[in-house]
Amino acid sequence: MGQWIIICVGFCILVVVVLPSVIVRGCSFNIYPLTEQLSSFDQTVKVFIVASNQLQDMPIEEYIKGVVAAEMPASFGVEALRAQAIAARTFTLRRMVAAGGPGCTAHSGADICTDHRHCQAWVSPVYSRKIQDAVNSTKGLVATYQGGLIDACYHAASGGATDNSEEVWSSAVPYLKGVSTEFEAKEPDFLKEVSFAMDELEKQLEVSLKERKSTTYKVAGKDVHVISEERMDKPIEVLEASKAGRVKEIRIGDKVFSGYALRTLLGLPSTKMTYRIADNKVYITTTGYGHGVGMSQYGANAMADSGKNYVEILKHYYQGIEVVDYVNAQVK
Ligand SMILES: [Zn+2]
Repeated sequence: MGQWIIICVGFCILVVVVLPSVIVRGCSFNIYPLTEQLSSFDQTVKVFIVASNQLQDMPIEEYIKGVVAAEMPASFGVEALRAQAIAARTFTLRRMVAAGGPGCTAHSGADICTDHRHCQAWVSPVYSRKIQDAVNSTKGLVATYQGGLIDACYHAASGGATDNSEEVWSSAVPYLKGVSTEFEAKEPDFLKEVSFAMDELEKQLEVSLKERKSTTYKVAGKDVHVISEERMDKPIEVLEASKAGRVKEIRIGDKVFSGYALRTLLGLPSTKMTYRIADNKVYITTTGYGHGVGMSQYGANAMADSGKNYVEILKHYYQGIEVVDYVNAQVK
């Protein structure tokens, strides 16, 4: 498969593909009511294009095409592309100032920026007919929970199961519940092993994997203490993990890290990891790609392949939601 660019909403690759995103971004959990103003507001998004350092006005539906093209390969199933379009549209409306959102907090005057680590990835208009159709056929559709726009967080692949939002971030969100993504099993295995020499890991994480040991010898009837530095017996220890197996807290040497911090510091694809130590090296194996909350994009594609439609896909990953036409206030 070729290289392509991705995200995560709400806030989120390198396996078979390059999916940037959801790594750094986090979701924000306020409920934005779908107000009457939404059906009449100016549907122009002020997009800050990072590559050209420009603020540009775009009709929302045209902008969404560029997001879907950046976030998902056009080779994915059409129902998955439609689900992605709705997630991206929901994310965008939550940010838009005219729709009651906060705008992009990094670029003043912008509703949203094209930095996938901050807002949402976007590419300029070179998208395929398939992507145009996916956006056009879901025009105006958004995902809501109890009448409010949801935080449509997504990630590339969950590695078998997503997690409750509070397992990854701090807040529990009723529609961001851990679900099985067994469909992903048909997808390329998002398994990756990386290794670090012990001293390399010490340097990168600014930790010590050694401990001081004191040994007492009798020399000419007197106790002589000898202090030596030796490798810890247990240099790494997972202190807490989520239900789906993502590391929440891990001790490495003399310091404790959150799974998120370790992932960022070591550039790991996900926090769903196991490790082993051999030959003075630490081998870390990760599964999946991204934060593991909300929609799995590879899972969505596998569901599309198995005949599920975009409403079924969205309702699987975002529990208890509705898919609504925000312009005409109709539920799909
Ligand atoms: Zn931004």
